[in-house]
Amino acid sequence: MEQQDWSPSDLRRHGGAALDWVVRYLETIRDFPVAPKMSPGALADALPQEAPLDGDAPESVLADFEKIILPAVNHWNHPRFHAYFSVSASGPGIIGELLSAALNVNGMLWMSCPAAVELEMVVMNWLRQWLGLPPEFFGMIHDTASVSTLHAIGAARAAADPGLRENGASPGLVLYTSEHAHSSVEKSAMALGIGRKNVRKIGVDAAYRMRPDLLEAAIREDRRAGKRPFCVVSTVGTTSVTSVDPVADIQRIASREGLWHHIDAAYGGAAAMLEENRWMLEGAAQADSLVMNPHKWLFTPIDCSAFFCRRPEMLREAYSLTPPYLASQEDPRAVHLMDYRIALGSRFRALKLWFVMRCFGYRRVCAIIRQHIGWAKELAAEIGAHPRLEVAAPVVMSLVCFRHKAGDEATRRLMQQVNDSGTAFLSGNVLDGRFVARIAIGNIKTTREDVQTTWAAVKRFADEL
Ligand SMILES: *Cc1c(COP(=O)(O)O)cnc(C)c1O
Repeated sequence: MEQQDWSPSDLRRHGGAALDWVVRYLETIRDFPVAPKMSPGALADALPQEAPLDGDAPESVLADFEKIILPAVNHWNHPRFHAYFSVSASGPGIIGELLSAALNVNGMLWMSCPAAVELEMVVMNWLRQWLGLPPEFFGMIHDTASVSTLHAIGAARAAADPGLRENGASPGLVLYTSEHAHSSVEKSAMALGIGRKNVRKIGVDAAYRMRPDLLEAAIREDRRAGKRPFCVVSTVGTTSVTSVDPVADIQRIASREGLWHHIDAAYGGAAAMLEENRWMLEGAAQADSLVMNPHKWLFTPIDCSAFFCRRPEMLREAYSLTPPYLASQEDPRAVHLMDYRIALGSRFRALKLWFVMRCFGYRRVCAIIRQHIGWAKELAAEIGAHPRLEVAAPVVMSLVCFRHKAGDEATRRLMQQVNDSGTAFLSGNVLDGRFVARIAIGNIKTTREDVQTTWAAVKRFADEL
């Protein structure tokens, strides 16, 4: 019979070639234009539409990867990828990912893979300490913050609606978040049957932080109308400007009103780990749940979203259901992850985070994040001093929002020109009704020189406009 999988020597040869490729790619990543120049459909058209009948030589697959796939890649791991939020797959993270693929375990139950479950508990406990959260928080890993937040709001709904599990949702539940909250909050409300009309987007102050007085007023008004306020989601590091909602004030209101308080620190949680930024999560110890994405600003490859919950019993209430073929031992130390989430199975995501946390350690991670914040502030000062540009929002973390004084069209053109040049990749947003360009600094390979190169490109096109 013909050989099934690659032989050990095949794997050594092709795997070695792929790893060599990875090393060379990361070594020379600055030579690539950050974003691809192509029109929609170009990649799909370059590949055969018929599915392969017989296998192809691995060498030719790797060659096509370079020739056809790579030119369509937006290089998220490039040090001058400043769009959305800048992320990185660091060396330790890449190796953790590789080993996890080789093991191919499924962490659904403790016995389905003790290592995956127990390491997840261990790294979440470490990350909890880095974030300064108390030991009551149970931590687990989801793929994305959107899924973490969906689980949080689902648990909040189960807590507010005791008949939910058996009878389905009852009407009248209302959720509160700020007008600058991530869309995943509203999406969760849509998916969970709460409805967008029952999401109150609370107004913000001049620094884009949720106003507690407006939150209180909205809750009061909803109670008067016979509604049932059940959950508030605050944000530490909003997507638009990285503003930090007053977590402690919101927590006081949530405690008094009996609301579940979920904190979306998907991006900002990393900044909040720094000693000088501890204020950002003040009050979080009493919150019900929190999400922080190591795949954002903690140098871990996508996907890895850390979800902490102080009331894991409500996750079980919302999501546990054990068919006989999954029955397992009852032991307080044998955690069955499937009991705390919608998905049955999961990848060994803890492994890459373990590699990152161990290889870098808290001090080095903080030093890198601190540099990013420092460079963002430097850049904001340069932009602020430029005659044609202005900074659009306070720089709290490592995101700089700016615009061209000539208006939206000029800002748009400027951003497009920078992106077309291939030097850097920026993204846009609308803030207070006006278009802004965003520069996020967060890649582990980014240097001060990279930020200056990006700034030089921005300046050149701003002067030309
Ligand atoms: C990025 C981000 C999200 C969504 O993250 P995913 O992991 O892509 O779902 C949610 N909230 C905030 C504040 C974010 O920055």
